[in-house]
Amino acid sequence: MTKKISKVLVKILKSEGLRYTDQRQAIWDEIRNNNEHRDAEDIYNKLKERNVKVSRATVYRTIDVLVKNKLVRKMDVGEGRSLYEPRLTDEHHDHMICLDTGDIVEFYNKELEDLQDTIAKEHGYKVIRHVHQLFVKPIK
Ligand SMILES: [Zn+2]
Repeated sequence: MTKKISKVLVKILKSEGLRYTDQRQAIWDEIRNNNEHRDAEDIYNKLKERNVKVSRATVYRTIDVLVKNKLVRKMDVGEGRSLYEPRLTDEHHDHMICLDTGDIVEFYNKELEDLQDTIAKEHGYKVIRHVHQLFVKPIK
């Protein structure tokens, strides 16, 4: 098996005063190779399944560092639960979360983006980032 060292990960860990380890590389690989929205526990369990010897604390702490350094996007879905997804490009999307099934739908709407810019501008601001989440239920 070949080991691929992520330069960006090495740099980030260094800036956070953390050591680069195979475990931390495995955590980043697990997240970036999966496009789902998962919580930290799911990610931890997946690593265990893959026989990566890593503590829960290391997984949680590493995810926080990846979020802080914008490699991973954190989504607060309420009730103290957070989901994570890789952020591999500058591409932006918003989320719809189904309260019945937990399904997550990604969407992007140019008009909505522009409207948010307009509203901020009317108040004398420019948008730096935004979080737009719709909590939905299926139409019966
Ligand atoms: Zn997403």
